Formats: sequence, C-alpha cells, structure tokens
Amino acid sequence: MTVVVRFAPSPTGYLHIGGVRTALFNWLFARHHQGKFLIRIEDTDRSRSTPEAVEAIFDSLSWLGLNGDEDPVFQFERAPRHAEVARQLLAEGKAYHCYCSPEELDLMREEARAKSLPPRYDGRWRDRDPSQAPAGVAPVIRFKAPLTGETVIHDHVQGTVKLDNSQLDDMVLLRADGTPTYMLSVVVDDHDMGITHIIRGDDHLTNAFRQWHLYQACGWAVPEFAHIPLIHGPDGAKLSKRHGALGAEHYRDMGFLPEAMRNYLLRLGWGHGDEEIISTEQAIGWFSLSAIGRSPARFDMVKLTHLNAHYLKASDNQRLVDLLKPLLEAKGYVVDALSEERLLGGMPGLKERAKTLLELADSCLFYFKVQPSDEKAGTFQTAENARYIQSLVEKVETLEDFTPEAIEQTIRAAAVDLGIKLGDLAQALRVALTGRTISPSLFEVISILGKDETLNRLRLFC
Ligand code: GLU
Repeated sequence: MTVVVRFAPSPTGYLHIGGVRTALFNWLFARHHQGKFLIRIEDTDRSRSTPEAVEAIFDSLSWLGLNGDEDPVFQFERAPRHAEVARQLLAEGKAYHCYCSPEELDLMREEARAKSLPPRYDGRWRDRDPSQAPAGVAPVIRFKAPLTGETVIHDHVQGTVKLDNSQLDDMVLLRADGTPTYMLSVVVDDHDMGITHIIRGDDHLTNAFRQWHLYQACGWAVPEFAHIPLIHGPDGAKLSKRHGALGAEHYRDMGFLPEAMRNYLLRLGWGHGDEEIISTEQAIGWFSLSAIGRSPARFDMVKLTHLNAHYLKASDNQRLVDLLKPLLEAKGYVVDALSEERLLGGMPGLKERAKTLLELADSCLFYFKVQPSDEKAGTFQTAENARYIQSLVEKVETLEDFTPEAIEQTIRAAAVDLGIKLGDLAQALRVALTGRTISPSLFEVISILGKDETLNRLRLFC
C-alpha cells in the first residue's frame, strides 16, 4: 500500500506553529514510506476563509520545505461532489430529510440543557414518513447514526479509544441551502484523495468517531488515524499568542532558519532516544507514529533559539549572505561586490556568535562602515587611545603581508613597544574599526577589511 497523507488547514487565520508541526509529521511520514504528501485547503467557511490566509499558508509551507507532492485541493470547489454523496446516502436509506425549524432545534437544545444533557438532535425526523413534510420548507439531510453499540478506533498515538454510540446524534450532512457540512466534506475528500493515514491534532479525535461511521455507510475503507497532542506553552496552558503561538512567517521574520524550525517542531512531541540535533535526512529515516508522545508538548523559545544558533553555524556561508541581503537592504545597506566579498570572508567569525539571522544582520554591519558607537564603545574614544592607534597606523602602512597571522604579530609587537597590554590595544582598535566593543576576531576583521579600509578607519579615529 502506498502511503498517502494530507495536511488540511482551514485558511481562517495564520498558519500557527501547531499546524506547522502537523504538516511536518505528515510530510515526514510520507517521505519515510516513499508515499505522497497532499495539501487540502479547507475553505468551506466562506465568511472566515481569506485569500491572504491561503497565500500565507503556502508561503509558510514553502519556506519550511513542506510543499505538497501534487496540486492542492480546494475543498469548496468540491461541494457538488460532497452533495452527491449525501444524496446517495439518502437514496440508500442511510440518511434522511429533516424539516426541523431553527426554533424547534433551539427548543431541543434548551430542553437538553435543562436536563444537563449535551445538546443533541433527538432524531424526530429519522423514521417519520416523508409525506408529513411541511410544505415550503427546504429540508437538511441528516446521517442515520447507530443508536446502540460502541465505536472503537485504534489510533496510532492515542491507542484504542472507544465511544458509546448513544453519544452520537444524527449529524447534518447537507444544509437546507444544499451546502455540505464540514464532517461530510472531510470524509469525502479524504476518500477521494486516497488518504491512507490521517495525522492531525487531537482536537479532532471526537470527529473521528462520526467520520468512522460515514466511511462505513459509504462502503469505504476507513483510513488509519493518528491524533497528535496539541502544543502547550511553557506554563502548561494551551499554546496561545502570549506564548509565542505566532504564524510561521513570524518565525521567519524573527530570523529563524527553516531547518531549525523543522528540528525543533519534530522534537516537540516526537523523540528518537536522546537525540536533539536531528537532520531532515535522519528525521525521514527515523520517523514513526509510534514514537509520538501522548502528552502535550511544551513550546520553549529558548530551545528553538539554541537550535537555530546551531544551524546558523552549520550553514553554508554564501547561503547566509544571500539570506542577509534583503535584511541589510531593509536597513539601507547596499550589498555590492566588495561588501559581499567581505561578508563572505567574515561569515565564519560572524555566524559563530549569532543566534538568529537578525542578530547576524546586526553584527555584520561594521563590514559596511564603522557603526555609531554606543555608550560602552564611546569610553574608548580617548586621546590616549588615539595616540596608540596613530602609532599602529605607521606600522600597518608598511605591512605587506595582510594575513590574520601577520596582522596579529604586528599588533602584538605594537603593544609591546607601547608598553600596554595587548587586550587594551585590541579593544581600542576594535572600537576604531567597528564602532563596537564586540566583534569577531580582530585579526580576521582587519584582514578582511584590507589595508586601505583599515587605514582609513584608523586615521579617522586619531
Ligand atoms: N481543517 C481542520 C483544521 O484546520 C483539519 C481537519 C482535519 O485534519 O481533518 O483544524
């Protein structure tokens, strides 16, 4: 059997981090089994679905490298097919017309509430003769749910879960205006798309029981289920905006790398021994539904940031320069051939120190020009330091070999000649060259800036 899975977001808002993890688990499961990963946009709620949200979902998935293997399915477009299935079930006596008015349904709900029962449809049109239908009322189509017995689902994450069928009421499949309900659309689409495994948040577990019966009634094989626990905040409460439950694109804007996000979200609720750093290739090789934890995972920004720092260090230098370009341009810096060369040369030193791309974009600015000094750097702008730098200018002017090693020797010798500590000279030099008190190795920075630029900056300081 070829595995076919799907990610089925509703485009009613941003794609939040829990949704991304669901997509990732589905994608990994498909890759692991050399199966297919499909995307279905569940846009049937016309008042809440927006093209912007659809766009944001595709943007986020493509940033994370979780593209579908086929063109996406848009659920709303398939409404005629969903209605056809409802009418087929009606013709087979597995569904029926219900003519209840909204007032009657309200009353039913109120009565149930008064008896402390869950609000449920009482099945009053289930066995009524259609000849009793009130004139001029468009009926809904309801599903004939079983009245007795229990429904058992063997879920890959939740284990065996059961529901007493008395809990199931006769749900609406097709509304009076002919539009299908969510429950019907999901089942028909999953069947028509050939979905073999449904991996989704455990907030859909109760739907699975109803869906199970719909599959049976249609004579279709029921897919396997894996309902994954939701993500909670570090305080154990359900993840909300307050915890950083932002849209995936916000994490990109905060300077996280897609591979760091993937690694982090994978570990959030799935494990392989004690492994923390897991490459995408390893994840594909190791992924299994049985290793998904049953308790809610806690979102931890510190861990995500830590992983991001790891992946920044491991990143190819040219890729990082390319990722930085738009960030730098937004800050008003033009990345021309010369600055690109400097950034590339300086990247090994820069990426060692940054935790996010934003930090990296900030820390590399001195390669363009000396940065305005902050309070700390300002304290190094003394007459004494200017004198030290002046004496260094004379040494640099005659320096032919501009390798970090030769530069180091020159600066060490200068400190000895001046009778000051290397650290004191280096700090003055750092401020003169970068405007900051923190930078990658000074010898490396000087070598990358080159003789002319180094001298220009040093002279400006004196
Ligand atoms: N559209 C649903 C959601 O966004 C998912 C439905 C499903 O996976 O079956 O929560």
